[in-house]
Amino acid sequence: MDNVGGVMNNVKLSERLRLVLEQVPPGSRLADIGSDHALLPIAAIETGRAVSAVAGEVNPGPYEAARKGVAEAGLSAKIAVRRGDGLEVLAPGEADCITIAGMGGALIAAILDRGQSLGLLEGVKTLALQPNVGEDILRRWLVKNGWVLTNEQILQEDGKIYEILTVVREDAAAGITNEQVYGDLAVGGALVLSKEMLLEMGPWLLRTPNQAFLDKWQGEITKLEGILKSLSRSELASAEAKRTQISEQIRTITEVLECLPKDKR
Ligand code: SAM
Repeated sequence: MDNVGGVMNNVKLSERLRLVLEQVPPGSRLADIGSDHALLPIAAIETGRAVSAVAGEVNPGPYEAARKGVAEAGLSAKIAVRRGDGLEVLAPGEADCITIAGMGGALIAAILDRGQSLGLLEGVKTLALQPNVGEDILRRWLVKNGWVLTNEQILQEDGKIYEILTVVREDAAAGITNEQVYGDLAVGGALVLSKEMLLEMGPWLLRTPNQAFLDKWQGEITKLEGILKSLSRSELASAEAKRTQISEQIRTITEVLECLPKDKR
Protein backbone atom coordinates (compact mmCIF):
# COMPACT_ATOMS: atom_id res chain seq x y z
CA MET A 1 0.00 0.00 0.00
CA ASP A 2 2.99 2.27 -0.30
CA ASN A 3 2.43 3.06 -3.93
CA VAL A 4 2.44 6.84 -3.64
CA GLY A 5 3.90 7.27 -7.11
CA GLY A 6 1.17 5.36 -8.90
CA VAL A 7 -1.35 6.61 -11.40
CA MET A 8 -4.71 7.30 -9.79
CA ASN A 9 -7.82 7.73 -11.89
CA ASN A 10 -5.53 8.55 -14.78
CA VAL A 11 -4.20 11.49 -12.77
CA LYS A 12 -0.50 11.39 -12.10
CA LEU A 13 0.36 13.22 -8.94
CA SER A 14 3.04 15.90 -9.30
CA GLU A 15 6.36 15.06 -7.66
CA ARG A 16 5.64 17.88 -5.17
CA LEU A 17 2.32 16.37 -4.04
CA ARG A 18 3.77 12.84 -4.17
CA LEU A 19 6.41 13.88 -1.62
CA VAL A 20 3.77 15.53 0.59
CA LEU A 21 1.72 12.33 0.42
CA GLU A 22 4.74 10.28 1.46
CA GLN A 23 4.78 12.23 4.73
CA VAL A 24 1.26 11.08 5.64
CA PRO A 25 1.56 8.15 8.07
CA PRO A 26 -0.21 5.04 6.69
CA GLY A 27 -3.75 4.67 8.05
CA SER A 28 -4.16 8.38 8.84
CA ARG A 29 -7.37 10.28 9.31
CA LEU A 30 -6.33 13.05 6.97
CA ALA A 31 -7.41 16.66 6.50
CA ASP A 32 -6.11 18.41 3.39
CA ILE A 33 -6.69 22.14 3.73
CA GLY A 34 -6.78 24.22 0.55
CA SER A 35 -7.33 21.01 -1.37
CA ASP A 36 -8.35 22.49 -4.73
CA HIS A 37 -8.99 19.42 -6.95
CA ALA A 38 -8.62 17.10 -3.93
CA LEU A 39 -5.80 15.26 -5.72
CA LEU A 40 -3.93 14.66 -2.48
CA PRO A 41 -6.78 13.15 -0.41
CA ILE A 42 -7.89 11.03 -3.38
CA ALA A 43 -4.36 9.64 -3.74
CA ALA A 44 -4.11 9.19 0.04
CA ILE A 45 -7.23 7.01 0.13
CA GLU A 46 -6.32 5.10 -3.02
CA THR A 47 -2.86 4.24 -1.70
CA GLY A 48 -4.02 3.41 1.84
CA ARG A 49 -2.11 6.33 3.34
CA ALA A 50 -5.44 7.54 4.74
CA VAL A 51 -8.49 5.61 5.89
CA SER A 52 -10.66 8.72 5.76
CA ALA A 53 -10.15 12.28 4.62
CA VAL A 54 -11.57 15.77 4.71
CA ALA A 55 -10.85 18.07 1.77
CA GLY A 56 -11.25 21.68 2.91
CA GLU A 57 -11.63 24.62 0.53
CA VAL A 58 -12.53 28.22 1.18
CA ASN A 59 -13.15 29.29 -2.42
CA PRO A 60 -16.18 28.21 -4.47
CA GLY A 61 -14.34 27.22 -7.69
CA PRO A 62 -11.77 24.91 -6.06
CA TYR A 63 -14.50 23.58 -3.71
CA GLU A 64 -16.59 22.50 -6.72
CA ALA A 65 -13.48 21.04 -8.37
CA ALA A 66 -12.81 19.02 -5.21
CA ARG A 67 -16.41 17.74 -5.04
CA LYS A 68 -16.30 16.74 -8.68
CA GLY A 69 -12.90 15.03 -8.34
CA VAL A 70 -13.98 13.03 -5.30
CA ALA A 71 -17.30 12.00 -6.92
CA GLU A 72 -15.57 10.95 -10.13
CA ALA A 73 -13.09 8.88 -8.14
CA GLY A 74 -16.06 7.16 -6.45
CA LEU A 75 -14.73 8.16 -3.04
CA SER A 76 -17.56 10.30 -1.64
CA ALA A 77 -18.03 7.77 1.20
CA LYS A 78 -14.43 8.21 2.36
CA ILE A 79 -13.63 11.83 1.56
CA ALA A 80 -15.80 14.62 2.95
CA VAL A 81 -15.45 17.77 0.86
CA ARG A 82 -16.25 20.84 2.97
CA ARG A 83 -16.29 24.53 2.27
CA GLY A 84 -14.80 26.77 4.92
CA ASP A 85 -11.83 28.75 6.16
CA GLY A 86 -8.77 26.76 7.21
CA LEU A 87 -9.24 24.15 9.94
CA GLU A 88 -12.78 25.36 10.63
CA VAL A 89 -14.08 22.62 8.33
CA LEU A 90 -13.00 20.08 10.98
CA ALA A 91 -14.66 18.79 14.10
CA PRO A 92 -12.29 18.59 17.10
CA GLY A 93 -10.35 15.29 17.02
CA GLU A 94 -11.54 14.41 13.53
CA ALA A 95 -8.11 14.35 11.87
CA ASP A 96 -4.76 13.04 13.09
CA CYS A 97 -2.76 14.29 10.12
CA ILE A 98 -3.10 17.61 8.32
CA THR A 99 -1.61 18.53 4.97
CA ILE A 100 -1.50 22.12 3.69
CA ALA A 101 0.23 22.62 0.35
CA GLY A 102 0.68 25.32 -2.24
CA MET A 103 0.16 28.45 -0.10
CA GLY A 104 2.53 31.00 1.42
CA GLY A 105 4.17 30.13 4.74
CA ALA A 106 2.54 33.11 6.46
CA LEU A 107 -0.94 31.96 5.38
CA ILE A 108 -0.25 28.39 6.49
CA ALA A 109 0.96 29.68 9.87
CA ALA A 110 -2.15 31.88 10.21
CA ILE A 111 -4.42 28.92 9.40
CA LEU A 112 -2.67 26.76 12.01
CA ASP A 113 -2.72 29.55 14.57
CA ARG A 114 -6.43 30.15 14.23
CA GLY A 115 -7.11 26.40 14.20
CA GLN A 116 -5.08 26.00 17.38
CA SER A 117 -6.93 28.81 19.14
CA LEU A 118 -10.20 27.04 18.26
CA GLY A 119 -8.90 23.73 19.67
CA LEU A 120 -8.87 22.16 16.22
CA LEU A 121 -5.29 20.93 16.40
CA GLU A 122 -6.13 18.66 19.30
CA GLY A 123 -5.51 15.02 18.38
CA VAL A 124 -3.44 16.03 15.36
CA LYS A 125 -0.12 14.20 15.41
CA THR A 126 1.49 15.08 12.09
CA LEU A 127 1.55 18.18 9.90
CA ALA A 128 2.95 17.92 6.36
CA LEU A 129 3.27 21.44 5.01
CA GLN A 130 4.41 22.75 1.65
CA PRO A 131 4.83 26.52 1.72
CA ASN A 132 5.56 28.19 -1.63
CA VAL A 133 7.35 31.12 0.05
CA GLY A 134 7.93 32.33 3.63
CA GLU A 135 9.26 29.00 4.91
CA ASP A 136 11.07 30.83 7.73
CA ILE A 137 7.81 32.36 9.00
CA LEU A 138 6.29 28.89 9.18
CA ARG A 139 9.32 27.39 10.94
CA ARG A 140 9.12 30.15 13.56
CA TRP A 141 5.43 29.43 14.21
CA LEU A 142 6.09 25.70 14.48
CA VAL A 143 8.93 26.12 16.97
CA LYS A 144 6.96 28.59 19.04
CA ASN A 145 4.01 26.22 19.23
CA GLY A 146 5.88 23.05 20.18
CA TRP A 147 6.11 21.24 16.83
CA VAL A 148 9.39 19.52 15.95
CA LEU A 149 10.65 19.19 12.39
CA THR A 150 11.30 15.53 11.68
CA ASN A 151 11.80 15.88 7.97
CA GLU A 152 12.50 18.63 5.48
CA GLN A 153 12.64 18.24 1.73
CA ILE A 154 13.32 20.54 -1.18
CA LEU A 155 12.67 19.81 -4.83
CA GLN A 156 12.63 21.52 -8.18
CA GLU A 157 9.70 20.88 -10.51
CA ASP A 158 8.62 22.74 -13.63
CA GLY A 159 11.17 25.46 -12.94
CA LYS A 160 9.96 26.11 -9.39
CA ILE A 161 11.51 25.18 -6.07
CA TYR A 162 9.34 23.78 -3.28
CA GLU A 163 9.99 22.90 0.34
CA ILE A 164 8.08 20.32 2.36
CA LEU A 165 8.18 20.50 6.16
CA THR A 166 6.97 17.60 8.29
CA VAL A 167 6.45 18.11 12.00
CA VAL A 168 5.22 16.14 14.98
CA ARG A 169 4.54 17.24 18.52
CA GLU A 170 7.53 17.64 20.82
CA ASP A 171 6.50 14.70 23.03
CA ALA A 172 6.22 12.37 20.01
CA ALA A 173 9.46 13.30 18.29
CA ALA A 174 11.39 10.20 19.41
CA GLY A 175 13.73 12.21 21.58
CA ILE A 176 14.40 14.92 18.99
CA THR A 177 13.96 18.38 20.51
CA ASN A 178 13.81 21.82 18.96
CA GLU A 179 16.92 22.68 21.00
CA GLN A 180 18.79 19.98 19.07
CA VAL A 181 17.24 20.74 15.68
CA TYR A 182 18.00 24.46 15.99
CA GLY A 183 21.15 24.20 18.09
CA ASP A 184 24.34 25.72 16.68
CA LEU A 185 25.29 23.80 13.54
CA ALA A 186 28.89 23.59 12.36
CA VAL A 187 29.30 23.34 8.59
CA GLY A 188 32.51 22.75 6.72
CA GLY A 189 34.36 22.31 10.01
CA ALA A 190 34.62 26.09 10.44
CA LEU A 191 31.39 28.05 10.16
CA VAL A 192 28.84 27.80 12.98
CA LEU A 193 25.29 28.60 11.92
CA SER A 194 23.01 30.36 14.37
CA LYS A 195 19.40 29.46 15.14
CA GLU A 196 18.42 32.45 13.00
CA MET A 197 20.17 31.02 9.93
CA LEU A 198 18.67 27.58 10.56
CA LEU A 199 15.18 29.12 10.73
CA GLU A 200 15.86 30.97 7.47
CA MET A 201 17.41 28.19 5.45
CA GLY A 202 16.08 25.00 7.05
CA PRO A 203 17.92 22.96 9.70
CA TRP A 204 17.66 19.58 7.93
CA LEU A 205 18.14 21.02 4.44
CA LEU A 206 21.42 22.54 5.62
CA ARG A 207 22.56 19.18 6.96
CA THR A 208 21.95 17.39 3.64
CA PRO A 209 21.96 20.07 0.95
CA ASN A 210 20.95 19.00 -2.55
CA GLN A 211 21.06 20.79 -5.89
CA ALA A 212 17.58 22.34 -5.45
CA PHE A 213 18.71 23.85 -2.14
CA LEU A 214 21.86 25.30 -3.70
CA ASP A 215 19.85 26.65 -6.65
CA LYS A 216 17.30 28.27 -4.33
CA TRP A 217 19.93 30.15 -2.36
CA GLN A 218 22.00 31.03 -5.43
CA GLY A 219 18.74 32.51 -6.80
CA GLU A 220 18.28 34.43 -3.54
CA ILE A 221 21.76 35.93 -3.93
CA THR A 222 20.96 36.97 -7.51
CA LYS A 223 17.71 38.60 -6.31
CA LEU A 224 19.52 40.47 -3.52
CA GLU A 225 22.22 41.64 -5.95
CA GLY A 226 19.47 43.07 -8.16
CA ILE A 227 18.04 45.00 -5.19
CA LEU A 228 21.51 46.22 -4.28
CA LYS A 229 21.99 47.51 -7.82
CA SER A 230 18.76 49.50 -7.80
CA LEU A 231 19.58 50.85 -4.32
CA SER A 232 22.93 52.08 -5.58
CA ARG A 233 21.04 54.57 -7.75
CA SER A 234 19.14 55.95 -4.77
CA GLU A 235 20.29 59.03 -2.94
CA LEU A 236 17.92 58.57 -0.02
CA ALA A 237 19.61 58.48 3.37
CA SER A 238 17.84 55.23 4.23
CA ALA A 239 19.29 53.54 1.13
CA GLU A 240 22.76 53.37 2.66
CA ALA A 241 21.54 51.38 5.68
CA LYS A 242 19.56 49.07 3.42
CA ARG A 243 22.61 48.55 1.17
CA THR A 244 24.70 47.55 4.19
CA GLN A 245 22.01 45.12 5.37
CA ILE A 246 21.65 43.47 1.95
CA SER A 247 25.42 43.24 1.41
CA GLU A 248 25.64 41.49 4.77
CA GLN A 249 22.87 39.04 3.76
CA ILE A 250 24.66 38.25 0.49
CA ARG A 251 27.94 37.74 2.31
CA THR A 252 26.35 35.37 4.87
CA ILE A 253 24.52 33.24 2.30
CA THR A 254 27.62 33.04 0.10
CA GLU A 255 29.71 31.97 3.06
CA VAL A 256 27.20 29.25 4.01
CA LEU A 257 27.05 27.91 0.44
CA GLU A 258 30.85 27.81 0.26
CA CYS A 259 31.09 25.86 3.52
CA LEU A 260 28.46 23.21 2.75
CA PRO A 261 29.77 19.68 2.21
CA LYS A 262 30.99 19.43 -1.41
CA ASP A 263 30.21 15.72 -1.79
CA LYS A 264 26.50 16.37 -1.29
CA ARG A 265 26.28 18.67 -4.35
N1 SAM B 1 -3.19 22.06 -2.12
C1 SAM B 1 -3.27 22.08 -3.57
C2 SAM B 1 -1.90 21.86 -4.15
O1 SAM B 1 -0.92 21.99 -3.43
O2 SAM B 1 -1.81 21.58 -5.35
C3 SAM B 1 -3.85 23.38 -4.07
C4 SAM B 1 -3.00 24.58 -3.85
S1 SAM B 1 -3.78 26.07 -4.39
C5 SAM B 1 -2.46 26.95 -5.02
C6 SAM B 1 -4.19 26.85 -2.86
C7 SAM B 1 -5.62 26.57 -2.48
O3 SAM B 1 -5.82 26.99 -1.14
C8 SAM B 1 -6.62 27.33 -3.33
O4 SAM B 1 -7.49 26.42 -3.92
C9 SAM B 1 -7.33 28.25 -2.33
O5 SAM B 1 -8.70 28.41 -2.62
C10 SAM B 1 -7.10 27.51 -1.02
N2 SAM B 1 -7.13 28.35 0.19
C11 SAM B 1 -6.52 29.54 0.39
N3 SAM B 1 -6.75 30.00 1.62
C12 SAM B 1 -7.51 29.06 2.25
C13 SAM B 1 -8.08 28.96 3.54
N4 SAM B 1 -7.92 29.92 4.45
N5 SAM B 1 -8.80 27.87 3.83
C14 SAM B 1 -8.98 26.89 2.91
N6 SAM B 1 -8.48 26.94 1.67
C15 SAM B 1 -7.75 28.01 1.33
